[in-house]
Amino acid sequence: MLEIIETLLVLQDRDRTIVQGRAEIDGLEIERVSVNERSASAEAAQASAEQAGKELEVKKNALEVDAAGEQTKIITYSKQQLETKDNTQYRAFVKQIEDCKKNISNFETDELMVLEEMDAQTETLKQTRADLDAANHDKATALSEIDERETNLQKQIGETEILRAETAAQIDEDTLARYDRLLKKGRANIVVDVEHGACGGCHMKLPTSDVANLKSSQEVNYCPNCSCIIYYTRDMNLESAGA
Ligand SMILES: [Zn+2]
Repeated sequence: MLEIIETLLVLQDRDRTIVQGRAEIDGLEIERVSVNERSASAEAAQASAEQAGKELEVKKNALEVDAAGEQTKIITYSKQQLETKDNTQYRAFVKQIEDCKKNISNFETDELMVLEEMDAQTETLKQTRADLDAANHDKATALSEIDERETNLQKQIGETEILRAETAAQIDEDTLARYDRLLKKGRANIVVDVEHGACGGCHMKLPTSDVANLKSSQEVNYCPNCSCIIYYTRDMNLESAGA
C-alpha cells in the first residue's frame, strides 16, 4: 500500500474518533435534559398533590362554616318558637328547625367524604414526596456521571486533535484539501477500498481502466463519482462482480 494512503487511513481514523466523540457529547446533552425532566415532572406531581390537599382543606372548612350557620339559625328559631302564641307560626318554626337539622346532617355527611379524600390525599402526597426525593437523588448522581463522561470525551478529543494535526502535516496540501472538503461535508468514508471494481464509498462501478491503473498507481486516486480517495490492496478483489 502507498505510504500516503496509509497516512490518509490514519488521518481518517483520527477524524472518526473526533466525530464520534463530538456526537457522544451531543448525546450527553440529551441525557441531561431527560434527567432534568424526570425531576421536573416529579416536582409538578408534588405541587399538584399539595394543591389538591389545600383545596380539600378549604372545602372542609366551608362545610363546617355552613353547618355552624344552620346551628345559629336553630337557636334563633327555637327562641322565636318559644315566644310565639300563634299555632301556625309555631308549626312553621318546627318545620324550619327540622330543615336546618337536615341541612346540618347533609353537611356532616359531605365533610366525612372530604375527610376520607384528605386521608387518601395524604398518602398520595407521601408518595409524590418519595418520588421527588428519589428523582433528585438520582439526578445528582446521573448529572455528575454525565459531567465526568463529558470531561473524558473532551480530553480524548483534544488528544486526538493533536495527533490528527501531526498526521495531517505529513500529507501534501492538495490531497489534504480534497480530503478536508469531504470531511466538512460530513462524509464518514473518505479513504475507501475498491471491491469488485466498485468504489467503497458510493458503490458505483469504476471505469475498467481506472481499476487497472489503481493497482500500479503511485499517486492518490479519486472516485470520479463521489470524489473519495480510492486505493488498492493486495487482498482486494479488483475483478468486477459479474466478470
Ligand atoms: Zn465513489
